[in-house]
Amino acid sequence: MYGAYIEGFMEEKDSVVQEMEQYAAQHYVPIMENDAIDAFLGLLTIQQPTAILEIGSAIGYSAIRMAQRLPEASIVTIERDAERFEKAVQFIDAAGCQERIRIIEADALAQEADVVVDKTYDALFIDAAKGQYRRFFDKYSPAIESKGVIYCDNMFMHGMVLQEEQDIPKRKRTMIRKLKEFTHWLMSHPDYETTLLPIGDGLLVAVKK
Ligand code: SAH
Ligand code: MG
Repeated sequence: MYGAYIEGFMEEKDSVVQEMEQYAAQHYVPIMENDAIDAFLGLLTIQQPTAILEIGSAIGYSAIRMAQRLPEASIVTIERDAERFEKAVQFIDAAGCQERIRIIEADALAQEADVVVDKTYDALFIDAAKGQYRRFFDKYSPAIESKGVIYCDNMFMHGMVLQEEQDIPKRKRTMIRKLKEFTHWLMSHPDYETTLLPIGDGLLVAVKK
């Protein structure tokens, strides 16, 4: 509701970021909305992570925005779609972020992505297939240090979490049910302090104890 109001105060973005936003709109790539990414970057600015792992790079938009905001941070990001991966590589180069963002073309749930967990991170951003959040969490949360933060995007699934089951398209029902189960599970997990923030499409923030 306040998205346009908030955007009215934002600095003009650099040309690569603008180009990415245009590309995403034209090709229906679901990057984070302007006000949502701004709030997310605000949280990261408080946390000051230095090693970030992102699941679901798409065209590299959120990774580049994080790198620009946090000059000390290095980012590892995973994308399984070949076309988006190629586009992300181009944008990361164009933004001059190739030293700080390592992008891996892989299915994050397959063995080929195991290489990323040979080190630890202080932030994990889960923004890939919404029905698989529990599996991403189980695989990657052990790589997050104590006091580290796990952020999950799209917890409201564009309002679908509020709909009655029969009003949700059939092919989306299982995904919505799993997303809600995951929300409930993480909010009551004893090892995390978890908050569901009404930022953008719903941002779940879990701080590891
Ligand atoms: N974080 C990005 C948007 C990501 S959109 C931004 O805000 O800019 C979600 C992406 O996750 C899609 O591009 C999709 O291809 C990817 N994805 C979904 N499941 C995945 C998986 N299992 N492994 C890797 N990438 C996946
Ligand atoms: Mg998202």
